[in-house]
Amino acid sequence: MPHFPASVTSRLPDVGTTIFTIVSRMADEAGAINLSQGFPDFNAEPVLFDRVAHYMHAGYNQYPPMAGVPALREAIVAKTAALYGTQYDAESEVTIVAGATQGLFTAVAALVHPGDEVIIFEPAYDSYAPAIELAGGVVVRMPLHEPEYRPDWAQVAAHISPRTRMIMINTPHNPTGTVWDAEDMAQLAALVRDTHIVIVSDEVYEHIVFDGRQHESCARHPELAARSVIVSGFGKTYHITGWKIGHVLAPAELMAEFRKVHQFNVFTVNTPMQYALADYMAEPQRYLGLAAFYQAKRDRFRAALSGSRFELLPCEGTYFQLARYSAIDERGDLVFVEWLTREIGVAAIPVSAFFADGHDARVIRFCFAKHDDTLDAACERLVKL
Ligand code: PMP
Ligand code: GLN
Repeated sequence: MPHFPASVTSRLPDVGTTIFTIVSRMADEAGAINLSQGFPDFNAEPVLFDRVAHYMHAGYNQYPPMAGVPALREAIVAKTAALYGTQYDAESEVTIVAGATQGLFTAVAALVHPGDEVIIFEPAYDSYAPAIELAGGVVVRMPLHEPEYRPDWAQVAAHISPRTRMIMINTPHNPTGTVWDAEDMAQLAALVRDTHIVIVSDEVYEHIVFDGRQHESCARHPELAARSVIVSGFGKTYHITGWKIGHVLAPAELMAEFRKVHQFNVFTVNTPMQYALADYMAEPQRYLGLAAFYQAKRDRFRAALSGSRFELLPCEGTYFQLARYSAIDERGDLVFVEWLTREIGVAAIPVSAFFADGHDARVIRFCFAKHDDTLDAACERLVKL
């Protein structure tokens, strides 16, 4: 086996393997019911696979245009205009990416200069800070305090400086399940007015909002849309997280910079799936029905755990449910999750993994994007604790 003969200076010295990979692997080893990493244990509709096969057999297997297949870009433009009211230009303002992670990474790489400050809200999705650090940016963390996990806008205002280049937001929010309302968006708009700040808006859970709430896309707010890079994806919406396809919307000036980087880190995204998705999303019920589908799962999961010693925190959107376990165990959340996975046979994510300083409120995250039988089997074990 060859060995690198010198020492490696890491560009991300504090980063290990992501918590999602670690816990999913542990779940596999232990044969546990995996409610950790966010992915469904059910399939997409066969008609979607038929469309992919159709396009493969029909010869759509070579490079698509760098920004993505026009039919898919046009479908996204039409959907965005219908749902959120902003008309994007399919040619210059939409790019198909290899999943939201790549869209977010590319946005940061394209727009953050060394020394620029980027505000993120913690708990934060784990890819944000490393992307900023690799670009030479400075991460400025704003806490979302449990149990409500709402932003403190006065505190954010106090941290905006002439060096603030970007604010990264995520609604509906992973891991907390909070959904920002119109007032949050108005506060954000007021904060960035007359600045050069770009908003990067992670909206991958845009169609999973509950109890009649409305998703506040930056595309719904003209002032924000004008300074936002909106990143969304197909993985959560169509139950295909493993396909790694997403899309990015931004005003042409920002998108031109985005594409300068995109063309050199992925260039293009696989062709037949883009055509298939363009066909598949023509039926609005396929994304508009998602909220009710997951709301029923949320309600089933919460009802099944209502007699347990877990304290369930509010869940307004996403397919994640947070639970405080301090009535069951006083140990830290990493230890608790390992025990839960190996001894009880249910895997979850420790929420401390979403904090740079490992802040541990004895809260774990369950993913309820699972068959009802899977959820019931997990709850049967969890209620006994
Ligand atoms: N942002 C958030 C908030 C997510 O939860 C995820 C993944 N679940 C992503 C981005 C990454 O999405 P993708 O798999 O499309 O890269
Ligand atoms: N976003 C998924 C989650 O939060 C995981 C994706 C990943 O493993 N990177 O569970």
